Amino acid sequence: MLIILFIYGTCIGSGLVALADRYTTHTSIFYPASHCDTCQTPLAYWQLVPIFSYLLLRGRCHYCQTAIPATSLLVEFTAGLVLTTLTPTTIIPLLWLGLWGYAALCDARTQTFPGWVSYLSLIFVLYDHPFSSWLAGGLLFTLINWIWSRWFSSAIGNGDLDLILTYALLHDIEHAAELTLLACSLALLQQQSGQRLAFIPHLIVSEIFWWLWRL
Ligand SMILES: [Zn+2]
Repeated sequence: MLIILFIYGTCIGSGLVALADRYTTHTSIFYPASHCDTCQTPLAYWQLVPIFSYLLLRGRCHYCQTAIPATSLLVEFTAGLVLTTLTPTTIIPLLWLGLWGYAALCDARTQTFPGWVSYLSLIFVLYDHPFSSWLAGGLLFTLINWIWSRWFSSAIGNGDLDLILTYALLHDIEHAAELTLLACSLALLQQQSGQRLAFIPHLIVSEIFWWLWRL
């Protein structure tokens, strides 16, 4: 069962990378079929198998030899590992992770991500909560996306705050503080002065660490 979950996970990881690529290049998610971004050659079926294809191809396009970013291998493996923790009670946290993992891949490339991720994750985390949580969550979400994004977003983007808010609603404030603390430490290691930094990837790496650590 774990092996099957791992294989499904690698496919989901591969899909998330492909979707983020399409977001970055502003192309349709349906057309054209998977292809090399450099030489545009459509990929054969054996070049589409998560993990194995990367290893078989030794990280290079079969046709033009352009290096394939190692991120795809890392994401496929990590997604496989994370999906082995799937149980009836972890469906929502894993859906949350999948959504924000996609946002992290987009953020790493463009420092933006599709706004629907925030809305959808808010609905996911609140769906079985009482009305008072919907009210509090909705109010904070509105504050972040209307007030923060207008006056304070130079400090931290509203997308990052959306992630932290939905995480706090999903788990609790303490978990959200631990998530943020580790993400900040990771970001500090990487930060170069004066440069804007994509913070969602750091938050997601932090969450994957905590998720596997707490098992
Ligand atoms: Zn190529």
